[in-house]
Amino acid sequence: MADVDIAIIGGGLNGVCIARDAAGRGLRVALFEQGDLGSGAAMAAPHLMHGDFIDLERGRARRVRAALTERGAALCVAPHLVRPTRFVLPLHADERPPAMLRAGLFFYDRLAGQSRLPRPEILDLTIDEAGHPLKRSLGLALAWSDCTVDESRLVVLNAVDAAARGAAIRTGARCVWAERSEIWKLSIVNRGRRESVTARALVNASGAWMPQVAGAVLHLPAVQASFVKVSQIVVRRVFDHDNVYVLQNDDRRMIYAIPFHRDFSLIGLSERGFHGDPAAVSAGADDLAYLCAAASRYFRERVAPADVLHAMAGCIPDDRRDGFIKLSRRRGEAPVLTVVGGATTMARRRAAQALAKLIRFFAVLPPWTAKAPLPGGDFPHDAFDDQVDDARRRWTFLGERHARRLVSAYGTRIGQILGAAKSMDDLGPLFGDDLTGAEVRYLMNEEFARFADDILWRRSKLGLTMSGKDREALAAFMAAA
Ligand SMILES: Cc1cc2nc3c(=O)[nH]c(=O)nc-3n(C[C@H](O)[C@H](O)[C@H](O)COP(=O)(O)OP(=O)(O)OC[C@H]3O[C@@H](n4cnc5c(N)ncnc54)[C@H](O)[C@@H]3O)c2cc1C
Repeated sequence: MADVDIAIIGGGLNGVCIARDAAGRGLRVALFEQGDLGSGAAMAAPHLMHGDFIDLERGRARRVRAALTERGAALCVAPHLVRPTRFVLPLHADERPPAMLRAGLFFYDRLAGQSRLPRPEILDLTIDEAGHPLKRSLGLALAWSDCTVDESRLVVLNAVDAAARGAAIRTGARCVWAERSEIWKLSIVNRGRRESVTARALVNASGAWMPQVAGAVLHLPAVQASFVKVSQIVVRRVFDHDNVYVLQNDDRRMIYAIPFHRDFSLIGLSERGFHGDPAAVSAGADDLAYLCAAASRYFRERVAPADVLHAMAGCIPDDRRDGFIKLSRRRGEAPVLTVVGGATTMARRRAAQALAKLIRFFAVLPPWTAKAPLPGGDFPHDAFDDQVDDARRRWTFLGERHARRLVSAYGTRIGQILGAAKSMDDLGPLFGDDLTGAEVRYLMNEEFARFADDILWRRSKLGLTMSGKDREALAAFMAAA
């Protein structure tokens, strides 16, 4: 008998969502991630959980409707991570006729059905706060509700839940070789040690590494897939409110400017064709210049490449919205399912679709993830502020910013970090702003964090504000723990 029913290569959003779904249906699952969870595409994903209004322009109303349904589900199962936000699109006639955009938006709102979020409206930018940071020549804007999400944390929480349902989650575990017979026999280099695992079915969810894994590791026929490099930049915040800007650029592409971790703005996306090692992908000077120029068309404050504090890049399939799911089976040989890319918003549904393809090989329970909260997400979707208030009443030493950060990351699990603490001193050493020893220990014990960067850039984005000295102290603390 094989060690597990399903082995998954890749701990990105696709891999962990499949692991969670499969484990919850009673399958024995092992997931292998060569680095940290979410260290591939998720790290550079644009923090949007949306129907992608502009997709209507491409005539994809069905896809938009499905994404809006998923957005609603995500809001209910992860109300701490998925935050409703007002999206603002300034109107001007240079790129698209305003009347067309307006009609498109009201259609978008109808596709959302009985959404609990505020309805679309037309804003007068000369009086609305959304107009304050923008150039005076902009008069009107469309505004609607969509959501933002930290995809890295979405990945981690899916993995945490998969593990709670019995999946083995192995980070720092690279699949280097596989042999296919009636079962798969995988060779894994796990933190320097070689081990072998057998599985009844294999899922290749290795993102931009997929062609390489299919060929060199799984010995399957060559897979044709083209990837694009997508880059984003972080600058000191160029606006003071919580709205997301959707800005039409002069090449007809949409640029997003998103409030990012309290003091920053995230500006993306720049897209370019990419060939090479996905591990070596990085934003180039041309990406920085493109994004700065696009933002400077709109904001009064000029954004220059010298203002860029941090840049992120990732590799995603050329058609990132749909991604693809492909089952390969041959008589007498164990199946392999390839799942790559696809919109963040659709990841839960994509995992269910992927499992539907494997279902004929296993006796499994029916789909279940649509209504099951992710860890910490067991509170009503509109009660985020109440959670913050409750936390501040219970742990009176918590400042507003600190409480908000903790609730948005851990939701109702905040108590597992703060426990019976009566003051910040009870939480152990303080690293930088508000990262405490207690939180670090929780992340190591419960969320698979091993190194400082796992915490600074994936479990949180505190790397943006932490000094070199604090990072060293954090690394030393983690090594000792
Ligand atoms: C900048 C950017 C913009 C995007 N834009 C949007 C958008 O606008 N809307 C939207 O909804 N979605 C968007 N996405 C897409 C979405 O974020 C991704 O499709 C999603 O993260 C799914 O990624 P994945 O799991 O397929 O791959 P990844 O997250 O890349 O995961 C693959 C993992 O496999 C691991 N791996 C590779 N080889 C091996 C091996 N041999 N052994 C073990 N592990 C291995 C890698 O380390 C990696 O962690 C965007 C993504 C990026 C990066």
